[in-house]
Amino acid sequence: MVPGLDIRAGAWKNKIKGALQSGGKVTHECSNCGTLVKPVICTHHYKESGLPNVYLQGVEVADCAACGNTDITIPHPRKVHRAITLAIAKSPARLTGRELRFLRTHLGYSGDQLAAYLHTDKTKISKWEKGEDRIGPSNDRLIRLLVAALDQDLVENIPVIAAHLLNITDDPKQNWTLNIDVENLTYSYQPLRSAA
Ligand SMILES: [Zn+2]
Repeated sequence: MVPGLDIRAGAWKNKIKGALQSGGKVTHECSNCGTLVKPVICTHHYKESGLPNVYLQGVEVADCAACGNTDITIPHPRKVHRAITLAIAKSPARLTGRELRFLRTHLGYSGDQLAAYLHTDKTKISKWEKGEDRIGPSNDRLIRLLVAALDQDLVENIPVIAAHLLNITDDPKQNWTLNIDVENLTYSYQPLRSAA
């Protein structure tokens, strides 16, 4: 159970504050009932990101036996989100609506603000994000470069993203799992076999 997880950076403060160092062992104070729990490091399916295919490796998970609550501590969440953003910009497949929403949210842009850069309107952005329209291949590529250009911590990646544009597959049937190592901020894509 992962109640009320919020991906905004500020929302993680209490969770991080709950991780206490005691006697050489890291313990975690349950955010629901205050019981001290020994967390385990594991891989977390990061559905709270709004993306269905992202797995965070090296996340601290504290299951509270007393109340059944689960606290998940993501170290430096802003950096993790930036790593996900860069991974999406270098995704092997056409951008999905959910990925677009993640990128726009990472930039802190409204639909109107992003639309202005793409010479379109927020209705179009909304249709893309909801999956009602598929993002076209040219906009897909422009969006990847734009995201890197508009985040000063990603600017240096523009040449690598530009080179990657040649390798994007537009096959809508091919799905991928995205693994993010939260410690090293590295990522890898794994192809998912389609059921057919
Ligand atoms: Zn508890």
